[in-house]
Amino acid sequence: MNIQGFQKLTMLDFPGKTACTVFTGGCNLRCPFCHNVALVLAPDEEPFTHEEIYAYLEKRRGVLDGVAVTGGEPLLQKDIAGFLRPIKEMGFLIKLDTNGFFPEALGALLAEGLPDYVAMDVKNSKEKYARTCGRETLDLAPLERSMALLAASGIDYEYRTTVIGGFHTLADIEAICRWIRGAKRYYLQAFKDSGILKEGSGTPLPEEEMLAMRDLARTYIPVCELRGI
Ligand code: SF4
Repeated sequence: MNIQGFQKLTMLDFPGKTACTVFTGGCNLRCPFCHNVALVLAPDEEPFTHEEIYAYLEKRRGVLDGVAVTGGEPLLQKDIAGFLRPIKEMGFLIKLDTNGFFPEALGALLAEGLPDYVAMDVKNSKEKYARTCGRETLDLAPLERSMALLAASGIDYEYRTTVIGGFHTLADIEAICRWIRGAKRYYLQAFKDSGILKEGSGTPLPEEEMLAMRDLARTYIPVCELRGI
């Protein structure tokens, strides 16, 4: 697996758990607001080996609850199941982040019982999805297949949208909520401008607007919270 980054301790990446975070390289999307551009455009070299991660985890049995795997897009990694199996066998919980565009890979991991928690992006309303992902067009059928897999899986999962001025309106959040109605949890994440956006292409939204979005979202999905506010 192309592991480009490794954070030894996080209290934030795996809800309610202490974890370490593994960052995989590469992504199929090109979101203009991507917080991990260096990972997305990752070089071929793999700075971390599986063995290094396993060796660290061996020393953290009984100390850490789990491992969060994020990217980039982790499901691009052909050998992700092979990487995760020994981690599961060591007794760690596994949290997977995904943009949802690889339902076959997701389905295979779910069938093996590898992830304990999945966080899936819902980038925007269907109408604005491609633009929000830096694409001219985008087939959303794979994303909807991933949604169906999660709904049927019985595991804990969340949907999440990073909310950005210039990309998301209240109407977009309502359209997303209609789309994912029935979801277990939905998080609206505050965008933090790290200076990587082209000038004028997006801004953080004021807290009042985020709160109004959350309140509207809760009329569709009762468990909806803000993150990063
Ligand atoms: S899906 Fe995530 S990692 Fe990929 S480009 Fe978009 S924000 Fe970046």
